[in-house]
Amino acid sequence: MKLSERVKYLKQSLTRQLFDMAQGMPNVIDLTLGDPDILPDEAIRNAACEAVMAGRTRYSPNAGLPALRDAVASFNTKRYGLQVEPSEVVVTVGGMEAVYLLLSCLAEDGDEVIIPAPYWINYVQMTQICGATPVIVPSYEENGFAVTADELEKAVSPRSKVLIINTPNNPTGRVIGKEKLHEIAKFAIKHDLFVISDEVYRSLIYDGKKHSSISTMPGMQGRCAVVDSMSKRFSMTGYRLGYAIAPSELAVCMTRMQENVAACAPLPSQYAALKAYKENLECEDILVEFSQRRAAILEGIKSIPQLGLSNIDGTFYAFVNISKCRMNSYDFACELLKKRQVAVVPGRTYGDEYDHYIRIAFTLCCEQLHEAIARMKAFIDEDLHVNA
Ligand code: PMP
Repeated sequence: MKLSERVKYLKQSLTRQLFDMAQGMPNVIDLTLGDPDILPDEAIRNAACEAVMAGRTRYSPNAGLPALRDAVASFNTKRYGLQVEPSEVVVTVGGMEAVYLLLSCLAEDGDEVIIPAPYWINYVQMTQICGATPVIVPSYEENGFAVTADELEKAVSPRSKVLIINTPNNPTGRVIGKEKLHEIAKFAIKHDLFVISDEVYRSLIYDGKKHSSISTMPGMQGRCAVVDSMSKRFSMTGYRLGYAIAPSELAVCMTRMQENVAACAPLPSQYAALKAYKENLECEDILVEFSQRRAAILEGIKSIPQLGLSNIDGTFYAFVNISKCRMNSYDFACELLKKRQVAVVPGRTYGDEYDHYIRIAFTLCCEQLHEAIARMKAFIDEDLHVNA
């Protein structure tokens, strides 16, 4: 068998690797995947069951149920002030497939895709699947993990075609403010780049901070697509539902691509999401619960002097600095799992510069998080013998 050259780029992410290692381990606290333990609202679950029992289990149009595209468009207009037509909405198999369809419609052999780091590893691998080249622009904790237009400027070349922005950010939990986004928008316009704005965590922002979308900056119309997901907002990860809002011409191409990739997103999930948008079933409780977990993590990490953590503005991730432990992130994560049964993700998954970080997904209840913190403290003090 001769595999394609492209597929050789594909590696299992360390996120999945650590998750797999944790499976079946007794007494393990698994903080790897961004997959919360919170159930969607009961009405959402009922809507999915009803759709199945009523036989609404066939294909939908490639771009999604018209009623769901309508609901998504009006939600974005009302909630975020985005001017969205239903024809600009393409419903996808998770936000993940929205990113994939966008990249496959925009990038090809010889093109470069600019990806700020730390990054969600799938951006890199999807770019490679499309035959394009990822160009990584690192950002640093001292600057709040925000890339500047100057740094982006250094990465640009005549081959640059797409820029990916992710706010709130996985893995850092930081949000990019309006002014920075404005700067980045000007940069994209100057170099005629198309921007994929991944905003799947925009429902999870703390301390009353407001989300800003680069798509609303002057001059971005026609050169930007927003990616969102039902996974985090409604806690519907396994329903595999997301969408892109893209300029009509691109939405048409994505729909054609969708016909060849998945045909459509799962229909019972689309009915469940329709219910969620129509009845506004985004539970307030999700944000309240995550705010409490975030406080537990911020306080807990602060109580371990060998670890460092700057603020978490949004998402359910903490990007924790382990440089005082003098151990690379992979060994740290493997040893922590082996010795104390806590599973976290090695920072090097998010870019070469981040081998002195680990990512913690606070997707479990506070009690488990307190226990995880206690175990991490014991690991550092008693197993690694790292002084404070
Ligand atoms: N973008 C980012 C930054 C993510 O972290 C994720 C989920 N881990 C996604 C997109 C896609 O999520 P989903 O496919 O579940 O909507």
